[in-house]
Amino acid sequence: MSAPMSEPEPLSLPDAESTESWIQERTSSTLADVRAAADRLKASPPADALGVVRAWDDAMLALGSLAGMVSLLANVHPVEAVRTVCEDTEAALDRLRTELSQDADLYAVFAGLPEDEAAGLDPLAARVLAKTLQDFRRAGVDRDEATRVRLKEINERLTELDQEFSRVIRDDVRTVRVEPERLAGMPADWLEAHPADEDGLVTVTSDYPDALPARMFVHDADVRRQVTVASTNRGWPHNEPVLREMFDLRHELATLVGYPDWASYDAEVKMIGSGDAIPEFIDKIAAAAEAPMKRDLDVLLARYRQDVDSIPGASAAAISTADSLYYEELVRKEQLDVDSQLVRTYFDFPKVRQGLLDVTGRLFGVSYEPVSDVQTWHEDVAVYDVVRGEGAARERLGRIYLDLHPRAGKYKHAAQFDLATGVKGRQLPEGALVCNFSRGLMEHDHVVTLFHEFGHLVHHVLGGQGEWARFSGVATEWDFVEAPSQMLEEWAWDADVLRTFATNADGEPIPAELVEKMRAADDFGKGYHARTQMFYAAVSYWFHTERPQDLTARMVELQAAYSPWPYLPDTHFFAAFGHLGGYSSAYYTYMWSLVIAKDLFSAFDRADMFGPEVAARYRDKVLAPGGSKDAADLVEDFLGRPFTFDTYAAWLAS
Ligand SMILES: [Zn+2]
Repeated sequence: MSAPMSEPEPLSLPDAESTESWIQERTSSTLADVRAAADRLKASPPADALGVVRAWDDAMLALGSLAGMVSLLANVHPVEAVRTVCEDTEAALDRLRTELSQDADLYAVFAGLPEDEAAGLDPLAARVLAKTLQDFRRAGVDRDEATRVRLKEINERLTELDQEFSRVIRDDVRTVRVEPERLAGMPADWLEAHPADEDGLVTVTSDYPDALPARMFVHDADVRRQVTVASTNRGWPHNEPVLREMFDLRHELATLVGYPDWASYDAEVKMIGSGDAIPEFIDKIAAAAEAPMKRDLDVLLARYRQDVDSIPGASAAAISTADSLYYEELVRKEQLDVDSQLVRTYFDFPKVRQGLLDVTGRLFGVSYEPVSDVQTWHEDVAVYDVVRGEGAARERLGRIYLDLHPRAGKYKHAAQFDLATGVKGRQLPEGALVCNFSRGLMEHDHVVTLFHEFGHLVHHVLGGQGEWARFSGVATEWDFVEAPSQMLEEWAWDADVLRTFATNADGEPIPAELVEKMRAADDFGKGYHARTQMFYAAVSYWFHTERPQDLTARMVELQAAYSPWPYLPDTHFFAAFGHLGGYSSAYYTYMWSLVIAKDLFSAFDRADMFGPEVAARYRDKVLAPGGSKDAADLVEDFLGRPFTFDTYAAWLAS
């Protein structure tokens, strides 16, 4: 069976009124098709291994594309009924995935392929087969009946625990009540929105919009301490037994399918490869960050000592988390003076959006053609075709949807979503960016976020030109996927790049000296930031591996070993450390991919960020292959050597 090679057409989305029924129809037909494909594979599998692998990949293409689309629409569609039906579809797809992964007869079709047949597959098809068999085994499909029943129970209970853990974090809001005069330092608009109650006190909650400015700006050290203690006790004590049960069940699951512990099970399908490599990595980063941490802490401490006599219970030897954000902010303001009001005048949204397209188009050798007259889910959404070549050689690579401004009922953060999984000649890759940026002047932070998220989108499109759905787009190991986006952030920090689109109302480009100051302010604290991250990573790893009875006691030890900040008595930050749910033992991921991002970027010439040879090599060797090779091999193909830690360490030390 060979796929037709004519260019596939993009999706055409329905209007708002018909979306609900359109999703329902697509859901029932896709579920039926995938089930039928699984049944056909079991009843009368294709005679050849390639036919088996191809049939499975086709079914997964349908399943994955629908999953991407409903996840997007559940987060952006203005009609609530559509969002609800999309959430229902997501749950139904999850159930089907679990059911298929535990179907012993289906597994037998793949496991029973004659050896010479499997050996005759081309390398990519063989890789699809190997990954498929690995998925089945990790789900425990080849274990005895009693084990499979227990695995099912564990998975169901883990889902409940994960939901409970998140719900408690979300719902547990603590409050601190203080006299208005003790809130001096808070932004004027915050104070205006928070008048005193009848008893003359103002309520400060542990939610970010209150707690973060309070910890950053309030001059009264005791108020900062109270807010910090309240914030780092959210979820406690309720979540401690929830977490202990979660760690125990994850451990049991891993051992039932043949691994020594959860971290080993989890790391097997990641770039880091083994559980043991995680604490090694944490210690390596911690060592590299030691001197840079001390350097920046000394600056903070010097400023802190000017005030220390007026801080009750303070020691001049160390700053606690109750004061760290406040003094960091003070040092930034007093010593690294960057006027954020001035910075904003150079980042007008329409120019930034065009700048992003021009910069990435030039870098990756593509152009973006605006598409009007197509249906989208909201009038704010801008649609572009991603195109390579001109005239007869013109080739449409994919389609992107940019949904970049806030509105009611929409996802609150910034993320890239898939709309269609790309497979050459079969289906065009389509994806969306969902963000919440101002329509006017933007913070530079948001410009960096835009470049970061666009990195995922361009990876989805450029990596969506291959033969297999399994490897399409951002299909690399989970601890690698942030690296291309973290690297693309560098283009939003380069003065020469910025001057091409960051111009003020008079058309003057942002001065290089200002960009230099912005970078210096951003770099301040990178050493102690790395150490804080390694403290979190150590908690995530050792809690899963050791499963301590007293989580607080173990956390205090790890804090002493890794964190720049001493333990603040009677606090239990882990109870609201939401990443213990999603990242589990792999919180190291963010730093791991940053190390690789820095190494990837070292191949580019800072004096010529658009060097065409290196940019094309990066596109073709790292992004275009999607998940068709191990990430370590993609990086080595690009760099011409295995990745190393050196560029990151040098950056940290600089
Ligand atoms: Zn990202």
